[in-house]
Amino acid sequence: MIKVAVNGFGTIGKRVADAVSAQTDMEIIGVSKTRPSHEAMIAQKRGYPLYIADISKKESFEKAGMKVAGTVEEMVRAADIIVDATPGGVGAGNKAMYEKYGKMAIWQGGEEHEVAGYSFNSSCNFADARGRQFARVVSCNTTGLCRIIKLADTAFGVKKVRATMVRRGADPGDAKRGPVDAIVLNPVTIPSHHGPDVQTVLPEIDIVTTALVVPTTFMHMHIIQMDLKETGDRGKFLKMIADHPRIGLVKGYTGIKSTAELREYASDLGRPRSDLWESCVFEDSVSIVDGKELYLFQAIHQEADVVVENVDCIRAMTGGASTAEESVAMTNRALGFET
Ligand code: NAD
Repeated sequence: MIKVAVNGFGTIGKRVADAVSAQTDMEIIGVSKTRPSHEAMIAQKRGYPLYIADISKKESFEKAGMKVAGTVEEMVRAADIIVDATPGGVGAGNKAMYEKYGKMAIWQGGEEHEVAGYSFNSSCNFADARGRQFARVVSCNTTGLCRIIKLADTAFGVKKVRATMVRRGADPGDAKRGPVDAIVLNPVTIPSHHGPDVQTVLPEIDIVTTALVVPTTFMHMHIIQMDLKETGDRGKFLKMIADHPRIGLVKGYTGIKSTAELREYASDLGRPRSDLWESCVFEDSVSIVDGKELYLFQAIHQEADVVVENVDCIRAMTGGASTAEESVAMTNRALGFET
C-alpha cells in the first residue's frame, strides 16, 4: 500500500483524500488543517488522522472535540508521498520540508512549474513521472486543455490552438470571492497564462489563450479552435472522444446546453459532491470547418478534474502502475465512473 498524506485538506485536498481512500493500492495516513473547521470535522468523520501545521493550535482542535495526531512534519515523516493541496503559493514553502525527509511530493496548479520542475497530465506524459521526487499536477483549465489537445494531436496533428476560457468566479463553497454582477477580463492582457501552462506538459504545441471570469461557481467553459495538420474527420474524432477514459461526450439528445444542467446530471448520477472528473465535450459543438479547422465547447469541473490526475500521478511516481492506461483504468474503476 502506498502511504499518502494530504497537506491542505481544502477543496482539492479533501477530494484527493477520498479518491485515494477509494483505491485498493494506496491509503491515507493523514491530512492537515490549520484550523478546527467544518472540513476538519469531515476529516475526523472519514477517519483520516488529523495533523496540524501549528501545534500551538492543538488545544483549539481538542476543545472542538477533534483528536490531533501530530504536526505536519510528523505526517510527512510517516508518508511515502505527499499531495500538497495548500493554497496557491503556500505549497512552494513546503518544499524544504519534503526535501529534508527525502519524500516524494505532488503540488497543484497554483504553484509554478519550477517548484517541481515537471508538470503532469495522465493523458500526455505519465511515463515521464517515474523515478521523480517532485511533480506538479497542472491546473483544472490546463488539465482540460491538455486532454483534448493531445487527443486531437494524436488524431490529425495539431498545428495551432486558440482557446478562450470562461471561468467560474468562485468555488461553490467560497463566500468571499466574486464577481457577483460583472464579466471580468481576467487577465485583460492577451495571452493568458493558460497557453504557457499547457506548454509545460506539451512543449511542442503552438497555443494562445484568453480568459474571462463570470458570476458562476460550477465549472469553466472552454471555447476551443485548433488548426489541424491533416484533414479532420468529425466522426472519427467523436469516436475517439467517446472512447477516452477522461473525456465525456455530452450527447445532443440529453438536451444539456449549460453547466447548470451538467450539475443536475452529475447530482442525479449520484456522483460524490456532484463531481465531474471528466472533461465534458458538447457533441453538437464539435465541428470541422474548411477541412482543417476544429471547433468545440467543453465544460471543466474545476474542483474535480485534477483529483483523478493526482491519483494517477501518485502511481506514476511510485511505480504503482506501469502505463497511463493501467492507472487511469484503476482510478476510474475504484471511483465507479464510466464516461
Ligand atoms: P483551498 O483554500 O480550498 O484549500 C487549501 C487548504 O489548505 C485549506 O484547507 C487550508 O486550511 C489549508 N492550508 C492553508 N495553509 C496551510 C498550511 N500552511 N499548511 C497546511 N494546510 C494549509 O484551496 P484549493 O482550492 O483546494 O486549492 C489548492 C491548490 O489546488 C492550489 O494550488 C490551487 O491553485 C489548486 N487548484 C484549485 C482548484 C479549484 O478550483 N479550487 C482547481 C485546480 C487546482
